[in-house]
Amino acid sequence: MNGHLIDGEVRPSEKGGTFTTVNPATGEELGTVALGGEADVDAAVDAATRASRGWRHVSAAERASLLRRLAELVRADAAEISAAEARDSGRPISDCRDDVAICADLLDYYATLPQNIRGATYAEQPGHLTHSRREPYGVVAAIAPWNFPFFFAVTKTAPALATGNTVVLKMAEQTPLTSILYGKLCLRAGFPPGVVNILNGDAGTGELLAAHPGVQKITFTGSTAVGRSIRRASTASCHLELGGKTANIVTKHADLQTAARASVHHAFFNAGQVCTAGSRLLLDEEIAEPFMEMFLRATAGIAVGDPLDPATQVGSLVSRQHRARVQEHLGRAVHEGASIIAGGNPSAVGAFLEPTVLDGVTPGMAAAQEEIFGPVVAVMRYRDLDEAVRIANGTPYGLAATVWTDRLDEALDLTDRLDAGIVWTNCPYRDHAHVPYEGHGLSGQGEEGGLETISEFTQLKVAYLGSPSAPWTLP
Ligand code: NAP
Repeated sequence: MNGHLIDGEVRPSEKGGTFTTVNPATGEELGTVALGGEADVDAAVDAATRASRGWRHVSAAERASLLRRLAELVRADAAEISAAEARDSGRPISDCRDDVAICADLLDYYATLPQNIRGATYAEQPGHLTHSRREPYGVVAAIAPWNFPFFFAVTKTAPALATGNTVVLKMAEQTPLTSILYGKLCLRAGFPPGVVNILNGDAGTGELLAAHPGVQKITFTGSTAVGRSIRRASTASCHLELGGKTANIVTKHADLQTAARASVHHAFFNAGQVCTAGSRLLLDEEIAEPFMEMFLRATAGIAVGDPLDPATQVGSLVSRQHRARVQEHLGRAVHEGASIIAGGNPSAVGAFLEPTVLDGVTPGMAAAQEEIFGPVVAVMRYRDLDEAVRIANGTPYGLAATVWTDRLDEALDLTDRLDAGIVWTNCPYRDHAHVPYEGHGLSGQGEEGGLETISEFTQLKVAYLGSPSAPWTLP
């Protein structure tokens, strides 16, 4: 049985609730997992509250050293973590290995944050000192999705820990196994009991955690609908990373070969289960035909198959239920007049779906507006860049946008006009730990990454100090 991590101990649920996690590629049961109920959420938040009294005063150097130690342990256990991730999520093992290596590097980066927490001093009169400082919130509830489970276990917790908060992490019910491994590594690294708590469970567990009065800050990554319901349910400060519908714009000045090859990766990496997936392909009419020939050829060459085979590029979707939702989107797209020109077939065993290309999509169709979150790309054509920008900006999301062009003037103009938190030109998915990002519109609230993370996970305190010998006067 895979338990919760509460107060430094691995425990079953107080009321004995459990659920089963399965390998979505085979349907095989992987294990029983404790299901967090009210008593478990209370116990985890209580443990985090007690631990926060000491943890907030642990030196910056000590917090940094624990994070670096955790990074080393992640590197040492990379093979076990990636294999568990591939089995629990259906993701290709090679992607899982890459992710675990990235996570170790991210932990090293987060280890630089504690010693970068700064305040300021302000102009004052003699006998006074006015300064500001940033203090941890206290208990952070971290609620994560299933699409990059280990990555989110790390990125939802480490910045909060670096800045002196304690955390209660709730992973998605589809993919609990690697967060359990992560919790055990946190203990081995030496984080004191109660500083890192991990609850397994479902939406109900998340709801209880988000609404818990002992939580001072929520960091959530997931769908826009759930993000909104969390914001309504909680009085805590909310940091929300939500859905997206990235436009991938290919101009007539692009290097079509490179754009086609990379756009296939942009659309289908992780079976399209990526918030920034290039799920809307916007093509200049002049180059649409040759581009589509290259794009379809590259799509047909994707190796879809066993997640444990290192040659696999696209694995299974996370569950058969999720695949059914993706297929509903396909049915609706066809009903609205789009055509499936490649892929679209589900596997008999597991939750695989062939990389699927929807052509003839128009901007008002659901396939162009709603997040499908599967291996599906919606192809649209535009006459000029004004129309491309109108289509790209024509959804309530604003997470990311991609441009392919060889012209700097075009790149600068589109970067200016696209309403998205990230604009990639000729380099989709480029990402650095030291660079922050923030979703626009319905895609989020608050910044992630970079030194900006510090302000996200700390609150400002300003202190006016007057010398006892300074005369007291009204300001
Ligand atoms: P989701 O359904 O919103 O769930 C996310 C997490 O919230 C899960 O742990 C889920 O638990 C929990 N949850 C569900 N209902 C809840 C509630 N009422 N209160 C509190 N917690 C609740 O999202 P998902 O399907 O796991 O992930 C896909 C979504 O995440 C997509 O929309 C994607 O765009 C978004 N995403 C965004 C980013 C970004 O950086 N902007 C990155 C990755 C993913 P259960 O799963 O156990 O129900």
